[in-house]
Amino acid sequence: MQTLLHNLNPEQLAAVTLPSQSALILAGAGSGKTRVLTTRIAWLIQTNQVSPAGIMAVTFTNKAAKEMLTRLSAMLPINTRGMWIGTFHGLCNRLLRTHYRDAALPQTFQILDSQDQLSLIKRMLKAHNVDDEKYPAKTLMYFINNAKDQGLRASQVEAYDPIERRMVELYELYDQQCQREGVVDFAELLLRSYELLARNGPLRHHYQMRFRHILVDEFQDTNDLQYNLLRLLAGQGETGGGAIFAVGDDDQSIYAFRGANVGNMSAFERDYHVKNLIKLEQNYRSHGHILDSANYLIANNTKRLGKNLRTDAGQGEPVRVYEASSDLEEAQWIIEEAKSLMNEGMPRNEIAILYRSNAQSRVIEHALFAAGLPYTVYGGLRYFQRAEVKHAIAYLQLMDNPHNDSAFLRVVNFPTRGIGARSIEQLQMAADSYGISLYAAVPYMSGKAGTVLGGFVKLIEGARFETQQLPLPELVRVVLERSTLLTHYGNEKEGADRIENLEQMVNAATQFVQEEGFGIGAPAHLGPPSQAQAGEAVVYQDGIEIIDGGAPLPTVMSPLSAFLSHASLEAGDAQAQAGQEALQLMTVHSAKGLEFDAVFITGLEEGLFPHESSAREAEGVDEERRLMYVAITRARRRLYMSFTQQRMLHGQTRFNMKSRFFDELPEEALKWLSPRVQTAWFGGRKQTTAWDDAKFRDGGSDNKIAQQITQKSGNGTGWRVGESVSHAKFGEGVIVNIEGGAGAARAQINFGSAGMKVLDLSIAKLEKL
Ligand code: ATP
Ligand code: MG
Repeated sequence: MQTLLHNLNPEQLAAVTLPSQSALILAGAGSGKTRVLTTRIAWLIQTNQVSPAGIMAVTFTNKAAKEMLTRLSAMLPINTRGMWIGTFHGLCNRLLRTHYRDAALPQTFQILDSQDQLSLIKRMLKAHNVDDEKYPAKTLMYFINNAKDQGLRASQVEAYDPIERRMVELYELYDQQCQREGVVDFAELLLRSYELLARNGPLRHHYQMRFRHILVDEFQDTNDLQYNLLRLLAGQGETGGGAIFAVGDDDQSIYAFRGANVGNMSAFERDYHVKNLIKLEQNYRSHGHILDSANYLIANNTKRLGKNLRTDAGQGEPVRVYEASSDLEEAQWIIEEAKSLMNEGMPRNEIAILYRSNAQSRVIEHALFAAGLPYTVYGGLRYFQRAEVKHAIAYLQLMDNPHNDSAFLRVVNFPTRGIGARSIEQLQMAADSYGISLYAAVPYMSGKAGTVLGGFVKLIEGARFETQQLPLPELVRVVLERSTLLTHYGNEKEGADRIENLEQMVNAATQFVQEEGFGIGAPAHLGPPSQAQAGEAVVYQDGIEIIDGGAPLPTVMSPLSAFLSHASLEAGDAQAQAGQEALQLMTVHSAKGLEFDAVFITGLEEGLFPHESSAREAEGVDEERRLMYVAITRARRRLYMSFTQQRMLHGQTRFNMKSRFFDELPEEALKWLSPRVQTAWFGGRKQTTAWDDAKFRDGGSDNKIAQQITQKSGNGTGWRVGESVSHAKFGEGVIVNIEGGAGAARAQINFGSAGMKVLDLSIAKLEKL
């Protein structure tokens, strides 16, 4: 016990060892919230207050759940396999698998990732002849997900105009389509679980009795449906409910756009009469200058629950700020700095490069690639989202549930087997008129279409039969061959990579069955367990159905179903597997909860960060500021910030002002690596500032970079790209490009509404602004 608790400060210790009542730990970044939560689980188990089965813990990502399980196995001599620790989606999936009948789902229901969801919606709109200009698929998808996140079925959504009424109808049709195909989207996993527990008293009671302790990390980012689900599980107002232990930081609430409601923190305090509210103010992650920056910045938000952070780590290095002339140069600077960190011995995977929008990563990736530096992009197109892998997964889905129309359509004619769009249209009509799946509609087809589609069904049936008794990795291998995917890519010029990815799936399956404890030889298709007959008593014990006191029935998934769920859930996770000796690239959103020795926050420009979509409302800017707070507090020892005068984004060159957030940081914590008034060349003589001298004395990579800039901007004209100018006729503008040297230089200038002009600099009467 001593060893478990001795690494905690007094407030952390108090939090870990609180009595079994609901509690809220409200604390800033890096103060040990996640550590407290994990240690509390271990402490509760070690002191025999609860068995591992009596714990439910919710993490924000699958990766965080894995980490928590690993930490727990290191702390306790127990087998953590099977513990209910996971994301809301992961845990709901498990609940629905266990009680699929009560949830009115087929045993082999499959999860749609957002890509599949969108294509299902598109297909549905087409089948119902809906004008997709008036009702774009994406808009409908947001509408549906938004309603589900609020816990609303179509019948419960209030529509105020004809457009909304139509959207509600389409939502209803969408749900029917999903039900017909046996598929559920991410939001549905939660809503279905909520409804299951809300309607089924005995089941609710069972889980309320079972989960004595429900622990939730990143509580500030729960949405209303998630909070209501927690309330059902904890049994508020009913006897025998468990205790909720919530940890969170209102300053890190960054998912409002997905329905997260930071108000859940105060709602929780009120609903559960929380007496135990503990604040942790000691930060163990970051050095002083970094922490000061975070504290100063977030102080500009008004609606805060109020707390501060301090550190004993000393001030450490200042935060380095760099103004680049372009995004390309920004990337070069990052590479130079990262290299010098690595030369000092910092491991590559301890260096993170953060950006506000995914689109920013391309330039950085390109530069890293050219420099030969290995990197991993979190949240990029990961294994399970690659096209060839999705095709293989679709075949596997058909092995498990042939009524999944999305899977059917993805591969019915891939690799091509002569099934044309016309045949598919006819099939779709037959399916619609009978209200059945495409697969089930095939026997109703006649003529040539009937023959070719029949051939596809035979292929699927044959593979299902052949793999009946096979373990998962074998099944995967057979399906890869039977589907002719391997041959198909083998004939492709650039197919080698794809084949490798497909073969990788056999390994993934092997690893999966081992990790999940299925046993390497377990048949992938678990025969349907002998379910209780209608009217027979079902007793629940530790999540396992026991019928009439007989042998427990593990109603959890077959290896194949479990593998397919894993693939979908992983595809939806914002974070890929970390590790690897590579630089870590990710959006600020997906950096939540993580920490690195060195962090680069890039693209700190108005319109980008804070993002233009949020800058219009004060609430939006506050959320961007919290996002910036999250970004800053990821760093342990070194923090870098950069912005550029010019950037290509979405095919446009933009000239941005530096982010307003710079004005909100403490000057003494910052070290500017580039002149704030750009160095210009006048008559061949470089004008240096006092700052410039300091920089050049500083030496090192800063020096090299500074030289690069002066070379780029110093073309002897007295003007520089990015500079704001004014012209008597055209008004105000920004120099976009300068050609030629002093005396014969021409500048391309963007005069906004007056358009783009090319002016001879020796003739045009330009004024500096
Ligand atoms: P975030 O808000 O970013 O999620 P957090 O509050 O969850 O942060 P943790 O990730 O739990 O913070 O802890 C931050 C770092 O501080 C971790 O490396 C953790 O191991 C370390 N840490 C936490 N508490 C202590 C302690 N008492 N002594 C030493 N190190 C600690
Ligand atoms: Mg944390």
